Amino acid sequence: MSYVDEVLEKIKKRDADQPEFIQAVTEVLDSLRPVIDKDEQKYRDLAILERITEPDRQIMFRVPWVDDNGKVQVNRGFRVQFNNAIGPYKGGLRLHPSVNLGIIKFLGFEQIFKNSLTTLPIGGGKGGSDFDPKGKSDNEIMKFCQSFMTELSKYIGADEDVPAGDIGTGAREIGFMFGQYKRIKGLYEGVLTGKGLTYGGSLARTEATGYGLLYLTEEMVKCHGDKMEGKVVAISGSGNVAIYACQKAQQLGAKVVTVSDSTGWIYDPEGIDVELLKEVKEVKRARLTEYASARKSAEYHEKKNGEHGVWQYKVDIALPCATQNELDLEDAKMLVANGVKYVAEGANMPTTLDATKYFLDNKVPFVGGKAANAGGVATSALEMSQNSERLSWSFEEVDSKLKNIMVGIYHNIDDAAKEYGMEGNYVAGANIAGFKKVVEAMIAQGVC
Ligand code: NDP
Repeated sequence: MSYVDEVLEKIKKRDADQPEFIQAVTEVLDSLRPVIDKDEQKYRDLAILERITEPDRQIMFRVPWVDDNGKVQVNRGFRVQFNNAIGPYKGGLRLHPSVNLGIIKFLGFEQIFKNSLTTLPIGGGKGGSDFDPKGKSDNEIMKFCQSFMTELSKYIGADEDVPAGDIGTGAREIGFMFGQYKRIKGLYEGVLTGKGLTYGGSLARTEATGYGLLYLTEEMVKCHGDKMEGKVVAISGSGNVAIYACQKAQQLGAKVVTVSDSTGWIYDPEGIDVELLKEVKEVKRARLTEYASARKSAEYHEKKNGEHGVWQYKVDIALPCATQNELDLEDAKMLVANGVKYVAEGANMPTTLDATKYFLDNKVPFVGGKAANAGGVATSALEMSQNSERLSWSFEEVDSKLKNIMVGIYHNIDDAAKEYGMEGNYVAGANIAGFKKVVEAMIAQGVC
């Protein structure tokens, strides 16, 4: 049995209750076969695959907090510090009822390669809680965040592990957590990114993941002899990534016709009104029904199982920006039948393995989240640099660095795919390019 299959089999047995983690590891290891097979004995002797798929440590803790009715609530907190071969652990904090150890491990594992692709010195980690911020008051959010950070603060630091936002963790939550860290540790340091601009945040961080996704997509489109102008785009989600992806796509001359949330989706053939979307989602924190009632051209559809949602329309570009496994094989078939030309993931692992394979088999240029959404963490690393320098860069400076990084990532993954005879397979290219750098550092640092 090959070394890759041996390790995959071990993980499937040992972590059988973590399907998302197994899915992420399978995707990565499968595409690393050409690299591993070439030098199998060396990797086997050094147990590289066993080491890179096992987190340095996984921390789980109780998060007790008192709700507005005086009742004590208890959630579970997580931080998985996966790999720090090339820099301090870095990765977001997800607050969502679906969070469990397997989900945090899949996200932390992906983060290792994504962070490596940014070319910046950051390792991979991820954390969060099964806390549901929906419907909670600001006071309850603060109580939760303070309790969460009271425990988490024991394990993080500016040179050790620097968490950031993710689903359910935005500027408000990062602010409450930063305040609590400062209070407990007595340190004013860049221990979190995604901070407010008045206390160490970076300009363009809010926009970074969505903008970065479009910078990479634009480069891919250009390299296929095509242009963004006039393209029709389907976006899923209506959170941080989706909103700014929408904004940049329209700035580049494309028309975005869909967005969604966990209860339904909008089809707006005139093009999404980004300012209205921001008002509904960022200011009012309301449902998309409010968007539809404020805009004549928009249709709202309630989400029903088995429906294609935003993926049923005739579009040139599909950008899934909501959550994992939201685009399955049937959706991929529908998109391809409707002539989709490019797909790039704003979210982490939104496309199922068989849907990804379908895009690749049908020669649809497809860039996975590891590369396509790396702009968020890249800009977080730029925030860390500014914090260390005790300086703030202008929006234009950060944005232009972000653009260079995303264009660089596209060429890096394109070159890696070509080098291993898989031209156009950006999934393999991203995994290979990300892996090689981390493994070189791991080998140089000895068995640890
Ligand atoms: P937000 O919380 O801002 O938005 C998430 C969006 O996805 C919301 O519209 C939400 O709808 C929707 N959503 C969440 N869960 C589901 C579900 N089960 N089914 C359908 N829709 C769902 O998160 P972000 O925009 O920050 O993150 C989106 C994705 O991008 C995640 O995969 C995240 O890991 C990834 N990512 C984020 C980065 C960042 O910088 N923010 C960086 C890199 C990756 P509702 O409002 O109804 O919950």
